[in-house]
Amino acid sequence: MKTNVQAVVIGGGLIGCSILYHLTKLGWRDVVLFERDELTAGSTWHAAANIHGLHDSTNISRLQHYTMNLYKELERETGQGCGIFQPGSLYLAQTEAREHQLRLQAAKARRYGMNFHEVSRQEAERLHPLVDFDGVRCIMFEPDGGNVDPSGVTNAYAIGARNLGAEIHRFTAVIGTEAQPDGGWIVRTTKGDVRTDWVVNAAGLWAREVAAMAGLSLPLVPTEHQYFVTDTIPTIATFDRRLPSVADRDGEYYLRQEGLGLLVGAYEKDMRFWAEDGTPLDFGRELFPDDLGRIEDNMMRAVARVPALGEVGIKRVINGPMIWSPDSAALFGPVPELQNYFCCCGIIPGFSQSGGLGKLSAEWMVEGEPTLDMFGWDLARFGAWADKNFTRARVKDQYTHRFKIHFPNEEREAGRPVRVRPAYHLQKQMGGIFGLNFGWEHPLWFSVDGEPTEETIGFTRQNWWKPVGREVRMLREAAGIIDISNFARYSVTGAGAENWLNAVFANRMPKAVGRSCLTPMIGRKGGVAGDITVTRVADHEFLVIGSGMAERYHQRFFRDVALPEGTSFRSMTASMAGFNVAGPRARELLQRLTNTDLSNSEFPFMQSRRLQIDGVDVIALRVSFTGDLGWELHCDVERQCELYEALLRAGRELQAGPVGSRALMSLRIEKGYGSWGREYSPEYWPHEVGLGALIKPDKGDFLNREAWQSVAKLQPRYQLAMLDVQAKEADATGGEPVFLSDGTPVGQISSGAYGYSVGQSLALAHLTHGAARAGDSVNVSILGRPHAATILHHPPFHPQGVRLRS
Ligand SMILES: Cc1cc2nc3c(=O)[nH]c(=O)nc-3n(C[C@H](O)[C@H](O)[C@H](O)COP(=O)(O)OP(=O)(O)OC[C@H]3O[C@@H](n4cnc5c(N)ncnc54)[C@H](O)[C@@H]3O)c2cc1C
Repeated sequence: MKTNVQAVVIGGGLIGCSILYHLTKLGWRDVVLFERDELTAGSTWHAAANIHGLHDSTNISRLQHYTMNLYKELERETGQGCGIFQPGSLYLAQTEAREHQLRLQAAKARRYGMNFHEVSRQEAERLHPLVDFDGVRCIMFEPDGGNVDPSGVTNAYAIGARNLGAEIHRFTAVIGTEAQPDGGWIVRTTKGDVRTDWVVNAAGLWAREVAAMAGLSLPLVPTEHQYFVTDTIPTIATFDRRLPSVADRDGEYYLRQEGLGLLVGAYEKDMRFWAEDGTPLDFGRELFPDDLGRIEDNMMRAVARVPALGEVGIKRVINGPMIWSPDSAALFGPVPELQNYFCCCGIIPGFSQSGGLGKLSAEWMVEGEPTLDMFGWDLARFGAWADKNFTRARVKDQYTHRFKIHFPNEEREAGRPVRVRPAYHLQKQMGGIFGLNFGWEHPLWFSVDGEPTEETIGFTRQNWWKPVGREVRMLREAAGIIDISNFARYSVTGAGAENWLNAVFANRMPKAVGRSCLTPMIGRKGGVAGDITVTRVADHEFLVIGSGMAERYHQRFFRDVALPEGTSFRSMTASMAGFNVAGPRARELLQRLTNTDLSNSEFPFMQSRRLQIDGVDVIALRVSFTGDLGWELHCDVERQCELYEALLRAGRELQAGPVGSRALMSLRIEKGYGSWGREYSPEYWPHEVGLGALIKPDKGDFLNREAWQSVAKLQPRYQLAMLDVQAKEADATGGEPVFLSDGTPVGQISSGAYGYSVGQSLALAHLTHGAARAGDSVNVSILGRPHAATILHHPPFHPQGVRLRS
């Protein structure tokens, strides 16, 4: 057994074996996998193993597409059969919303060269003669859809990895993982110890127990899941081909051919958790007793759609465990608080995703970062706030609504609230409608004067569209008070603070007290890992403000640069709150509450002061993400209500009032401002998204400077463009593909919103560099249908920033 390796993978299920395989593909030969039992012993062996390529998230579709294509390649490479059947998948839409979803996915497929297209009912009946298509308004076909053999695929990954030098030790349990001072780990197993650079937790059903060995708690909980296989259906026996699988998600079941019968599975409403307090260590290749009564409703819908199903008996039922994260997406990536500890856990559609997950995991460990932006799957999207109750409530919601459409802007209620600030109750009384941001409740918009008190969801404009418009107009015409407490705030203090910040961020840190700067943080491959505002509030004290949802994600980068002795770094996100007061009357509003002179000459743009607002101490920054005249005010969280009430009181006299984050989205898009996680991500280089000028290479070294230098000399691959879209019933929201008028794909939308103060439906897009110019016409696939759009020369709201600086 190797005793000193680059990576130890814990778990020989589908995912662990794929990671091992992909690590060897990227050149790591000293890699070992430990499996406590036989390979596939967890969730893997009993899976239905259906494979799909399309997903609502574009990057997940790309990863699934890679996986679907990999299986055949894997068979060729290893000689191990993967039991691949790709008769295709039919996707049925029974509702208008589902039709929008499928059409959007088809448009994305065209953008990325994937095969997913509409077929007529006649063609669908030819493809699957057993399906009754009545009531179906749109049918899509994915020719590569189908299923694989769980054990074949897992063993193929294992063989491929072994062929390239990896070791696999079956019946060898990991019983301890101990961090070492050199950044590596000692992994203790039932057959001896191994020293490794990286630990990979791919322990599936036991991911929580393995994590606990490193002192880590993962928000995961297992559930039961059932499917059944029928006896032979005589008609199927007459076909000389395999029938496509059927994704009738409005019917809430999945269905495909298995042998000469059918396999049907369902995520029942009456779901069951399993092993909530810990997966038994002696749980083997076991299944739970059948409980088909719980999936009866789903079964009846499947029988109505495929009547032949009701004419035969059930041959076998599988009721097995699978383990879920709160949003049913993977818990993926290096743990920010630990050195070289990687997780790839909580995988639900493992067979659609194993290849892509293995590849991106390997890239992350070997190359420092994955090639795709994986924030939506990054385990850093959750913090300690995602506790057991939250996880349980969210998993229940996810499981029971597995096939429900996740609409853009949808905020699910389950498990909330988890974290609230003092102003929450006041905001609630004021009609606040809330969203979840890294565990915090934050107001999306305010319902006043008979406006709807609950928001509707859908792909088209919803009932919040008008109230948000009212808030935008109020801010642009008078002023608005936006709760920005959900921004992440850090305090960096001490004699070494300036040097440390200069070593982390790419811009030059402000020299004078009261000055602020905007700065990118550079990712390990030269892309944008963060966009941050740094303010020097005292000689040796800086306030750093970044994206709230990226708080834990950014720790990975902050940790990369050691803090000089005597310098401290503290998160102030929970202990401070903030408001942005913006709009043409913002100065007038604030001046009523402070003796500090707020005139442009005394308090210019991009400067900061400590001052009092109605007796509350605040750090005031003359910046605003709205593109309007404005100040950000940051105070102790205990004084949040006092400050808020004072601002609201002064605002009332000026026809100003509370504004939520939906309006902020519209306001910043009108101004063309990018936002982290949308326009800015490690996938994009700074000079592709307009941040190149903020990088100051002559200031000395900074984090990932070499990576940036190597991309900075390359031609940009993308350009960030502002589009004016001819949209009447729905605005772009992000992810919609963009095509030239001849159908050539040229990019995708990063953010979209209606620009209420300019009367245009607007969108920001990453377009292929040089493919289109300002003034050109393009098409945006909103709702999956082409919407004419023009590339604008400038953002429509005050492109010169006159209001901002006046
Ligand atoms: C009934 C059912 C149907 C499903 N159908 C589908 C489907 O149609 N399509 C699809 O894509 N997905 C499906 N899935 C989900 C799929 O099974 C999972 O996504 C996948 O198996 C997850 O693989 P994994 O490697 O992450 O976890 P697991 O398969 O649980 O593997 C983890 C491995 O780690 C090992 N291990 C744990 N602790 C230790 C330790 N301390 N030391 C050493 N080894 C350890 C375990 O023994 C186990 O082998 C289904 C699941 C169920 C339950």
